[in-house]
Amino acid sequence: MENKTKIAISSTGNNLDNDIDPRFGRCPYFFIIEIEDKKTKHAKAIENTAAQQAGGAGITSAQIVADEGVDAVIAVNVGPRAFDVFSQLEIKIYNTEPCTVKQAVQRFIAGELKEASTPTGPMHMGMSGQNSGAGSGIGKGQGLRNTQEETRCFCEKCKLSMPAPEGKDCSQVNCPKCGSAMKKIE
Ligand SMILES: [Zn+2]
Repeated sequence: MENKTKIAISSTGNNLDNDIDPRFGRCPYFFIIEIEDKKTKHAKAIENTAAQQAGGAGITSAQIVADEGVDAVIAVNVGPRAFDVFSQLEIKIYNTEPCTVKQAVQRFIAGELKEASTPTGPMHMGMSGQNSGAGSGIGKGQGLRNTQEETRCFCEKCKLSMPAPEGKDCSQVNCPKCGSAMKKIE
């Protein structure tokens, strides 16, 4: 780990003793935590204004977090869309077991968290804890193909592409990385 890191954590509340919210896109708060020399230097909670959004909350949430300039995200689950945005912004994702925000920070500092290489969690809903068969039972080749037709937006400046936020046209969307207007990929 570098000396200085800024991380985001999905939280059920605005207190460090609150639990991590397993629903990344739908958590009520994000904690933005600055770590320097393996110590928490600064912590703040920001409201996740995307939590109530009808659709595309994962993408909007990812943008909110990216705007804070974080280097990494700690979450229990990150869906494919948010995962896509994070990987293009070179924001690392670390998975953790459910725990409090404070514990997650400690585990991160201790180097106990693993970097996620694939999206986890369901596309359209939060986890309810009873999906014992997660990841199994899906037929071959259906993995990422069972999404509805997806509009994607593209930034010509930094070559970032991402799914269009629900109900928005790409011309209304600014690139989360550089702020330029985006274009629809035809
Ligand atoms: Zn851009």
